[in-house]
Amino acid sequence: MKKRELPIAIIGAGIGGLAAAAVLRKQGVNVHVYEQAKQFARIGAGIQMTPNAMRVLNGLGLRGRLEEIAFAPRSSLNRQHDTGAVTNEFPLAEAVLERYGMPFLAMHRGDLHAALAGLVPGENISLGKKLVRFEQRDGSVLLEFEDGSQAHAAAVIGADGVHSQVRELLLGAEKPRFTGRVAYRTTFPASRLGSLDIGPSRTKWWGPDRHIVIYYVTRRRDEVYFVTSQPEDAGWLTPESWSAKGDLNVLREAYADFHPDVRAVLAACPDVHKWAIFQRDPLPSWGEGNVVLMGDACHPMTPYMAQGAAMALEDAVVLARCLEARGADVDAAFRTFERVRKPRTSAVQAGSSANNWMREATNPDWVYGYDAWEVALGD
Ligand SMILES: Cc1cc2nc3c(=O)[nH]c(=O)nc-3n(C[C@H](O)[C@H](O)[C@H](O)COP(=O)(O)OP(=O)(O)OC[C@H]3O[C@@H](n4cnc5c(N)ncnc54)[C@H](O)[C@@H]3O)c2cc1C
Repeated sequence: MKKRELPIAIIGAGIGGLAAAAVLRKQGVNVHVYEQAKQFARIGAGIQMTPNAMRVLNGLGLRGRLEEIAFAPRSSLNRQHDTGAVTNEFPLAEAVLERYGMPFLAMHRGDLHAALAGLVPGENISLGKKLVRFEQRDGSVLLEFEDGSQAHAAAVIGADGVHSQVRELLLGAEKPRFTGRVAYRTTFPASRLGSLDIGPSRTKWWGPDRHIVIYYVTRRRDEVYFVTSQPEDAGWLTPESWSAKGDLNVLREAYADFHPDVRAVLAACPDVHKWAIFQRDPLPSWGEGNVVLMGDACHPMTPYMAQGAAMALEDAVVLARCLEARGADVDAAFRTFERVRKPRTSAVQAGSSANNWMREATNPDWVYGYDAWEVALGD
């Protein structure tokens, strides 16, 4: 593809935006990323990178680096909340490597973000730039930021997450449905667990109306992560915030009848955040003209299949491939991207909402086997 005079602007330096910038730069495309945050923070969260996500990261040259620092769980272990009886154990580690040619890694979200950020030179990222408005004119796009500054771009990729401003400007305010459930999550040093070992697996403990997922996020097994989902009145509602604090006593009370190992993890935890879980239907459209959405901005999902970031990573590759294939016709590239990706992300959105992924014997081939670098783009 020819270098454009104006850069392609990517709004949001999250998982999807950074990956898109990295793939486009590999193709020789001029990109610039605008991020509202003034600096990157290491948010206390773990993230599971399933083989389909690792395939993207491998193509970006990050697999080795991540294998050195991330935890490779032996299995996906699903247990009854109180007795601990195993309802399904899906082998990961060697088994996944053999079947999909890629590992399954669990890591700190901050480590993943730092690895992706390392692929994009600082001069291609502007921090403290919150997009408030854009205007398409004569094949280019004028961007306006909260600080009053402006920029011009050949095209815009809205990778600005679940509260996407680009989406709102394109499609109007959305009305997500609160699921009545809240996720508590945190990471903390494993040393706080004393003699308790949470084991070599990524374990999900299933209760009748709530669950908790627990795993290490480092290869050294010195940092523990958990994320829950439970019914809670969200009168406090800070919709989907990475910084809202949770009350540890409320959390411990909610899991008081869970297995002693779960209670011990919650007892050892020093601090917790919470995130209200919302549901959305697939959007009628992902863009218009030279503006397109990707990642959580266009297909946010409940966290129950651990696929939100994986979908954003896959989007990044397919979007860049569409731009390469369609040459100067950005509009056609963006429509192709939407056509190729929407069926898959809609299916994962729906599967995630059902919240029964892996509870019992499950064949994950359709999720883990996807190769964003090779998937057909059609005519
Ligand atoms: C509790 C929980 C657990 C999860 N676990 C997993 C998991 O194990 N595996 C997995 O694959 N996914 C997981 N996810 C989902 C995953 O975190 C998201 O799907 C993923 O981060 C989406 O990437 P993104 O690039 O679309 O958005 P984000 O990573 O959220 O990035 C959006 C970026 O845009 C910036 N931004 C927003 N508005 C503006 C603006 N107006 N101007 C400029 N910048 C802006 C934001 O500051 C942010 O940096 C989980 C989610 C939750 C809530």
